[in-house]
Formats: sequence, structure tokens, C-alpha cells
Amino acid sequence: MDCIFCKIAAGEIPSKQLYSDETVYAFADIDPKAPFHALIIPREHIGSLAEAAGHHKAVLGHMHVTAAGLAREHGLDNGYRVVINTGPDGGQTVSHLHLHLLGGRPMAWPPG
Ligand code: IMP
Repeated sequence: MDCIFCKIAAGEIPSKQLYSDETVYAFADIDPKAPFHALIIPREHIGSLAEAAGHHKAVLGHMHVTAAGLAREHGLDNGYRVVINTGPDGGQTVSHLHLHLLGGRPMAWPPG
């Protein structure tokens, strides 16, 4: 499968690693939208949140716990935002499920 995030998780495309274990991989976004912008992805290829099923509950929880740990590690003590863009209307541009972790500045609401 020709998936850029699968290749990043496999180390075939370079990335700035922020966290790695057997289930998830986290790396710096190449075009950061905040002073701190990480992407947390499952090693398993899941195209988007729209494909989530019962057997994905553990990995989805793992991604969020990883985000909270990264936020603590990087001093995002004043808060942060996690986002999963899903499908064309959701603004998803890479078809491998990813959790954005954004911090280091105040976030606006609602998003655009
Ligand atoms: P989406 O728009 O929610 O699908 O987010 C995709 C994100 O992946 C964007 O924030 C991009 O900047 C980021 N991105 C795309 N290609 C790369 C890459 O090769 N390395 C790191 N981040 C990437």
C-alpha cells in the first residue's frame, strides 16, 4: 500500500520522532500550525476515523493517552488541542488516521 504515514511509521521516510511503541508512532508535523504540532498515528493502517470499529477501541485510546503524555512532556501545561480531521469535509488530506496535537498558543473556536 502506498501510504506516506505507513512509510513514516516504518522508518522508510524520515521524520522527527517524538514517541514510538508497538502500537503508535508520533512525529513532528512537517508544516506546523502551532508552536508545538505533533501527529500521532496507529502503526496499523486505518484510513480515517470513519473506518473505526469496535476492535479499534484500544488503539484509539492509546493514541489519546500518547497525546496527553506528549503534552505533559513538552510543557503544554496551559492547555492544548487534539484534532482528528475526517474525510473531505473534515479537511483530511492524508488517508491514514492521525491525531493532531497542537499547543503553545491559544486556539480559536469554532475551527474554520
Ligand atoms: P490532515 O490535513 O488532517 O490530513 O493532516 C495531515 C497533516 O500531515 C498536515 O498537517 C501535514 O502538514 C502533515 N504532513 C503531510 N506530510 C507529512 C510528512 O511527510 N511529514 C510530517 N507531516 C506531514
